[in-house]
Amino acid sequence: MSYSRWGSDSDLYLFAHSAGYVACMGCLLTETDDDLDAPVARLHTPEDVVAHLERHREAGHRFEDRLLDPAIYAKDGRGYDPFIPAAARRTQRAEAERTAQPG
Ligand SMILES: [Zn+2]
Repeated sequence: MSYSRWGSDSDLYLFAHSAGYVACMGCLLTETDDDLDAPVARLHTPEDVVAHLERHREAGHRFEDRLLDPAIYAKDGRGYDPFIPAAARRTQRAEAERTAQPG
């Protein structure tokens, strides 16, 4: 899921990566990754995300103020946590379904 996409009011593309972190793709503050065509900042906690966004704001980059609320990166009501890798999430779900069944 994405939190922000590039546009007239945003200089950021911020999304939950399936590997279990929030990615700031094409980050204007990060050196280009050797393995990728575009620089990416990998952010592993809600606090990391907010601290990174504060650096963007200091640099004058545009994004929505709501992105500075760490609560939006926390586990939501459906149990989605962007800081858990997709593979681990599937394992957790399978385990929960297995233990929920009687016998
Ligand atoms: Zn960034």
